[in-house]
Amino acid sequence: MKVIMLGPPGAGKGTIAKKLVEMYKIPQISTGDLLRESVKNQTKLGIKAKGFVDAGKLAPDELVIGLLKERITKDDCKEGFILDGFPRTIQQAEALGEITEIEKVINLVCSNEEVIKRLSNRMVCKSCTAIYNLANIPPKIKGKCDKCGGELFQRDDDKEETIKKRLETYREQTEPLIEYYADKGILEDVNAERDVDDIVEDCVAVLD
Ligand code: AMP
Repeated sequence: MKVIMLGPPGAGKGTIAKKLVEMYKIPQISTGDLLRESVKNQTKLGIKAKGFVDAGKLAPDELVIGLLKERITKDDCKEGFILDGFPRTIQQAEALGEITEIEKVINLVCSNEEVIKRLSNRMVCKSCTAIYNLANIPPKIKGKCDKCGGELFQRDDDKEETIKKRLETYREQTEPLIEYYADKGILEDVNAERDVDDIVEDCVAVLD
């Protein structure tokens, strides 16, 4: 099963993808996580991407497409994958279409107000990338990951000024993908302004 999670930053793509991974036993591929890892390790690609990520802008298509191609040709992707944060431009979607066939696109629908509220409360585990929200999905122990005990941190790009830029980038460059995939007949909208369990239930109904 090859699935794309679409939606603005903060709609819950990563959180929902992680739940679906447990159910369907296919990997979640987050280009944001891959880029942050490259930035942390100061790889050539990471050095090139850092300025874009910090500014809430998209990293250049050729960088991200290369990263994605390398990841989805690995063995664990043979039965499929859940893409989280890719594609983000029409050019990326076209490049993806040339290497594989996507079966479903889940479009998580979420308003700007809700996204801003969520991102400014988001905390991420440094070790396992589990996602928390201080308002509605808090960790059991402050600052610690429930799953692995890792340290929680706020992403630099989850600060208010950068959130606004990321939303603008989303509306301008990524939102056109909704029409692109709707035209192919594989896109389903899911209301993302509800409890995680209800959203997951709708996603499973779409995928099954
Ligand atoms: P995310 O973790 O998906 O919110 O991504 C964090 C940041 O990584 C984005 O704001 C972009 O700067 C960069 N990024 C992630 N995925 C992509 C992509 N598919 N294309 C370009 N930039 C990306």
